[in-house]
Amino acid sequence: MKILILGSGGREHTFAYKIAQSPKCEKLYIAPGNAGTSNVGENVSLNVGDFSGIKDFILEKNIDLLIVGPEDPLVKGITDFCKQDTQLKKLLIVGPSKRGALLEGSKERAKEFMLIHQIPTAAYESFTIESLEAGKTFLETLKPPYVLKADGLAAGKGVLILNDLAEAKAELENMLKNQKFGEASAKVVIEEFLDGIELSVFVLTDGKNYKILPTAKDYKRIGEGDTGLNTGGMGAISPVPFADAQLMQKIEERIVKPTVDGLAEENIDYKGFIFIGLIKVGDEPYVIEYNVRMGDPETEVVLPRVESDLVEMLAKAAEGKLDEVNLEIDDRAATTVMLVSGGYPEAYEKGKEITGIENVEDAIVFHAGTTSKDGKVVTNGGRVIAVTAFGEDYKQALKKSYQNVEKLQFDKMYFRKDLGFDLD
Ligand code: AMP
Repeated sequence: MKILILGSGGREHTFAYKIAQSPKCEKLYIAPGNAGTSNVGENVSLNVGDFSGIKDFILEKNIDLLIVGPEDPLVKGITDFCKQDTQLKKLLIVGPSKRGALLEGSKERAKEFMLIHQIPTAAYESFTIESLEAGKTFLETLKPPYVLKADGLAAGKGVLILNDLAEAKAELENMLKNQKFGEASAKVVIEEFLDGIELSVFVLTDGKNYKILPTAKDYKRIGEGDTGLNTGGMGAISPVPFADAQLMQKIEERIVKPTVDGLAEENIDYKGFIFIGLIKVGDEPYVIEYNVRMGDPETEVVLPRVESDLVEMLAKAAEGKLDEVNLEIDDRAATTVMLVSGGYPEAYEKGKEITGIENVEDAIVFHAGTTSKDGKVVTNGGRVIAVTAFGEDYKQALKKSYQNVEKLQFDKMYFRKDLGFDLD
């Protein structure tokens, strides 16, 4: 198969790395890719939002399978764009239609979907500028902390959790009146705070059948002990040690199955990944959010544990025949540690040379924000490199990730040294 992956992060390098290993992969392109993806495929200088450029490229290279990495093109309708084009009739696509992608594109839609299909989630109400006063009154009925969510995509920044009622009211006004998160906060979901421990479950579906991929837990905050600003993710661990068979059974019966059945009942064309952000309160799982693509850095620990042929699985999902494949998982634990540019998630510099990659042993270097310049690999983003390793348990795997992190260098490199601190 000739395959095109859209995206440029650690997630896309991981997809490329696994796909390049498949005998079914005849030629692999990544648009736009990074310095790592160019080692396993061919980078194409195309923006993920340039739908007509992507179409031309697919036709020119006879691409069979398109894999959409990030949410933005999905929410903007890349899948519908391709499926409606008669020239692209035979193209297989991993990524939901625009209606499916709305589960991530609108928090309100996701909450309504869960309500309709009786999927456990926090109680909520949503508000617009017209109902600002009602929103403030609703806040008064809740106990702190208060959870305020911008309805639309806000690059992972649209959620505020506040302890003080007056502050929550002021922020609600800020979001609705002053568009704190732009158009994304023209509507705000206010929901009940759930006190528990988070985990993520990844599902590959063809709209009827599904496969549950390994669980993962990511570390979002920049500082040790989960402090400081939110980031795109500072590392991840798979499997989640507390996700035992009993919890997984509840997750499958109460959440995964009703989600896939709900999509089918609503006639939504959904062939791709569902990333379910969950919180375990006591022994019960609740959905915090849906994402309509894989997570980053969770992909860097989930896909390396998949032993089945990834190209076959993805093609079967896109064809609606996921029931024809078996999912084999490596029992070992996998961990990844993200190396970031000093200053991230605020201002940081780019263009710093990365050295030591050739010294990494018994671990995988997944590139995120990197590029090649004058024969050198240099930093090109906030999150730069993810170092993934395997072990009998997460502690062993982490030890190996950290041993290899020590071999890598770039100016102002930073990483969290305490991943897994909350799991003992
Ligand atoms: P989201 O973008 O919806 O995943 O929210 C971002 C983060 O806010 C989540 O990963 C949780 O840590 C936290 N969060 C969101 N909703 C809730 C809630 N209802 N209760 C507690 N924490 C939440």
